[in-house]
Amino acid sequence: MEHLMLFRSTDYRIEDIHLFRDINEENRKLIADIIKDCQVVKARTGQIVLDANSSGARLFIVLKGALGVSRLTEKSNHLENTITQYLPGECVGEISVLDEEIHSATISAISDSELLLIEAETLWKLIDESNGVARNLLQLLSFRIRAANAQIRNRQKVGEFYRQLSMVDGLTGLHNRAWLNAQLPGMIEYAHAAGAPLSIIMVDLDHFKRFNDEYGHLLGDDALQTAAKVLNAGLRPSDFAARYGGEEMMVILPGASHKSAMGVAQRLCNRLGKTKIFSDRQKILPHITGSFGVATLTPGQDSNALISTADAALYRAKAAGRNQVAS
Ligand code: GH3
Ligand code: MG
Ligand code: MG
Repeated sequence: MEHLMLFRSTDYRIEDIHLFRDINEENRKLIADIIKDCQVVKARTGQIVLDANSSGARLFIVLKGALGVSRLTEKSNHLENTITQYLPGECVGEISVLDEEIHSATISAISDSELLLIEAETLWKLIDESNGVARNLLQLLSFRIRAANAQIRNRQKVGEFYRQLSMVDGLTGLHNRAWLNAQLPGMIEYAHAAGAPLSIIMVDLDHFKRFNDEYGHLLGDDALQTAAKVLNAGLRPSDFAARYGGEEMMVILPGASHKSAMGVAQRLCNRLGKTKIFSDRQKILPHITGSFGVATLTPGQDSNALISTADAALYRAKAAGRNQVAS
């Protein structure tokens, strides 16, 4: 911590300090007596008042100016103020006084400030002598707890948002491989436990390398998006479509028997073959087709084995001439 300038001042009113709010006349005199020797420090704009991870059991009450929670920005290595501000009448550092732990944040002056410095010993004396101070401190702590909880909830929401984002394929909007790896084993486990059927369809676009070579990768991307839309639109809400990788996609049909999965695959195959790919309004690209391999969960089978079965079926669909379904 930089050196803070010390001086003594009587240039403040006790009733303006939140910690000493709603306190009767007699108590106020008592408080005035206890804090009469407390020093006032001056902090220039940008100067650090409390250093994160430092100890130092003391409370600062803002008399003039403003303090803010700061963090070091990695790039410029200078302090940047965030939204939390402490204005005249408010205090900082009380938690470290109470629990004797290190400070959790760096607090610095947002503008030239004057701060009343209350050492731990003095604060404890105030708490012992005045119920009003103890009550105000409790209120302050519950406010801090609520604020911290709100911040945690907010961070959880942001975390959940990014987690969801990391489970979605950027190009097609389908679930991605990470999602598949995380979800499929659980769905299979559930199907085994419930004795319910579960089928998957492995889809691979036909001659897609040729399509890319002929029309370029950007139009190839359009075609892939179109194919993804066809798959997604043809499913019930309880079914899932994921991009397995490259131009391979997988459809998961919980509860679907082999027969009904074959029906779904055939329907998707027909629709894909009929769908036009528009890159723009002038150019109509040739239709793309896909090959479909269907596999239905057998007793004791795990996700890897199920996927291998679907892959083998897909290979048969390719070998038999593409644009078709095999199992
Ligand atoms: P097959 O009918 O046997 O599946 O032939 P194929 O050409 O589709 O198969 P191959 O595995 O040889 O080629 C797959 C192609 O898919 C090659 C690759 O460039 C293309 N591809 C994979 N991912 C993407 C993508 O995100 N965008 C585009 N435009 N192309 C992709
Ligand atoms: Mg492929
Ligand atoms: Mg292919």
